[in-house]
Amino acid sequence: MQPHLLPLLSDLFGGGHLRDELRRGFASGKTKPIAYRKEQLARLAYMVQENRDAFHEAMTSDLGRGTLENDFMDFQPALGEITDAYNNVEKWSKPQKPAFNINWFAMNPEIRKEPKGTVLIISPFNFPMVLILGPLAGALAAGCTALIKPSEQAPATAAVYARLVPQYLDPDACRVVLGAVPETTKLLELQWDQILYTGSARVAKIVLAAAAKHLTPVVTELGGKNPVIVDPKMDLTLAARRIAWGKFSNSGQICVSPDYVIVTEEIKEKFIKELLAVYATFYPDGPRHSDSFSRMATKNHAARMQRLLAETKGKIVIGGETEVEERYVAPTIVKDVEWDDALMEDELFAPVMPIVVVKDVDEAIARVNSREHALALYIFSNDASYRKKVLDNTQSGTVVVNDVVIQYAAYDMPFGGVGGSGTGASTGRYGYEAFTHFRTTVVGKGWLDSIILKNRFPPYTDAKLKA
Ligand code: NAD
Repeated sequence: MQPHLLPLLSDLFGGGHLRDELRRGFASGKTKPIAYRKEQLARLAYMVQENRDAFHEAMTSDLGRGTLENDFMDFQPALGEITDAYNNVEKWSKPQKPAFNINWFAMNPEIRKEPKGTVLIISPFNFPMVLILGPLAGALAAGCTALIKPSEQAPATAAVYARLVPQYLDPDACRVVLGAVPETTKLLELQWDQILYTGSARVAKIVLAAAAKHLTPVVTELGGKNPVIVDPKMDLTLAARRIAWGKFSNSGQICVSPDYVIVTEEIKEKFIKELLAVYATFYPDGPRHSDSFSRMATKNHAARMQRLLAETKGKIVIGGETEVEERYVAPTIVKDVEWDDALMEDELFAPVMPIVVVKDVDEAIARVNSREHALALYIFSNDASYRKKVLDNTQSGTVVVNDVVIQYAAYDMPFGGVGGSGTGASTGRYGYEAFTHFRTTVVGKGWLDSIILKNRFPPYTDAKLKA
C-alpha cells in the first residue's frame, strides 16, 4: 500500500467521506454564482502556472517524456482548457431561448443551464494533466462540485494533485482521491450526479454497470484501433512524416494515435521508404537514448508489446527492440501484417505501426467497418471524391484529413467517440455541457386558459374536438 493512500482509505471506509462533503458544498449553493466559478477556475490556472516545474518533473517521471513534448501535448492544452472555461463561462451559462412559437412565446420559455451536482472524474495515465484538468474545468465552470481520481499508473503526477489541489481550490468544490482498482470500486459504489470516465473500454463496462445501479449518467471517453487510410495518389512524404509523428509521440499512448495504416500494394514499398527516411530524421542517433522519445507507462504494457512483437515472424521493418525493465519499446514499423495477426486484435497503445495491404478503397472501407467504430479515422488524400467516399461510408468519433492527432485540440468542437469508442464529449463548451442540465422552464399564465389552453379541461365535448 502506498502511504499516500492511507488518508483516502480511512476517509472512504470511515465516516463522513469526501463525496458527502462535496455534496454539502453543492447544497450550500456557493458554487452556483458565476463569480465563484471564475474564482475557482482562476485558482486552477494559478495552480498549473505556479507549479510548472513540479508538473513537468512528475510527467517526465511517469512517462519518460521530454519537456517540450510534455508542454505541447499536456501542459499547454490543460491550461488552454482552463482559460477557455474561465473566458467563456458567462456566455456558456446564459439561459437559451427556444425558437419563436406562437403557442409558447407568452409562457417565457427558457432553457436554464444548471449544474448537475456532485460529480466524479476518473482519468487514465497517458495525459495526466489535460485529461483531468480539462474535465475539471468543465465541471467547475458548470458550478458542480467534483471529485477527481487520477490514474495510479501516473503516480508522480497524481501525487502533485494530492499536494496542490487542497492548497489552491476550495475543498467544498474539489477533492482528490488517489488509488487504483479497490479505491475506484469503492467510489463507484456511491451515487454521483455525473461520472466522466476516460480510459479503456474494458473498464468502461465496469464503470457503466456500477453507475446503472444509481441511474448515474456517464460520459465515456474511450479508445480503439484508429485506422489510417492512404490514397495511392497521396504525397507519401507528407503522409509518412505526419503518421510517424502521431504514432511515435507519447510512445503511441494517445487515444487518437494512428493504430494501423492501410495502403495498397502499389505504394507499400514507397511509403515504407518514406517512413524510414522520417525515422532517421526524428532519431538521428537512434530512439533508445533520444530525448524526443518517451516510455511506456508500465512494465506490464512494455511486456505485452514484447510478446506481440515476438509473434510478428520477421515482418519488422525497423525497431522491434524492447527493454521491459526500462519500459522501453522502440518505435517499430511492421509490414505485411494480416488482418487476423495478433497486432490487429486490440488497440496497441504503443509505438508500433502495423501496415496492412488492401486492393482498393472499397476493401479499406469494408475492413474498417468490420471493427468497432474507432475514436479517430485518418484519411490521407487530396482527392475530394476519395475523401467523400470514405467519410460517407464509415463511422468514427472524429476524422482528420491529411493529418493525425490534432483534433483533440480543435477549438470549440466536440471531442468524443461513437459506439465502442465512447459516448458524449469532454472538451471546451462540450465539457461544460457534460456537467450541465438543460432545464426546460415555462411559466403558465392564467389568461392563457381563455385562449390556447382552454380545450384541455373536461368535459371533452365534440365542440372542443372540432375547435
Ligand atoms: P484504464 O481503463 O486501465 O484506467 C483508467 C482509469 O480507470 C484509471 O483511473 C484506473 O484507476 C481506473 N480503473 C482501472 N481498472 C478499474 C476497475 N477494474 N474498476 C474501476 N476503475 C478502474 O485505462 P488506461 O490504461 O489508464 O488508459 C488507456 C486507455 O484510455 C486506452 O484505451 C485509451 O485509448 C483510452 N483513452 C481515451 C481517451 C479519450 O479521450 N477518448 C483519452 C486517453 C486515453
